[in-house]
Amino acid sequence: MADPRELYQQVILEHNRKPRNFGRLDPCTHHADGHNPLCGDQLVLTMNVVDGTVQEIKFEGHGCAIDVASASLMTGAVKGKTVEEAEAMAEQFRAMVRGELDPGTEPNALGRLSLFQGVRDLPVRVKCAVLPWATLHSALKGEEAASTE
Ligand code: ZN
Repeated sequence: MADPRELYQQVILEHNRKPRNFGRLDPCTHHADGHNPLCGDQLVLTMNVVDGTVQEIKFEGHGCAIDVASASLMTGAVKGKTVEEAEAMAEQFRAMVRGELDPGTEPNALGRLSLFQGVRDLPVRVKCAVLPWATLHSALKGEEAASTE
């Protein structure tokens, strides 16, 4: 079996090179800007929520490899999910990277996103990984700006 650390590196590099759902939806029903001043990550999230379901979601901006890979995987994970499911994943993701949730032993809907578990050992990178999820939360709540501060 592949070393989880190696798999994590591969996924980060691959999504950073070819981010999924990159771009901007216009018009859109929800949007928010995310900013992580600690690292300089910046992203704009646009989405169309129809009948309580995330039908389309895109992001653009610039950031470090972890931020871009996290945004790429986040958008793929929440597309087609209900707002409640998306919010639950955002909470679980945050808890996991803070070391409060072990996706290997505790119930969760993170699936492939559990690759980011290793970030909890890199405190300066936690905010990079969380930024796309914080921005998603702001967009769903109707707030226009998200910050990791
Ligand atoms: Zn970053």
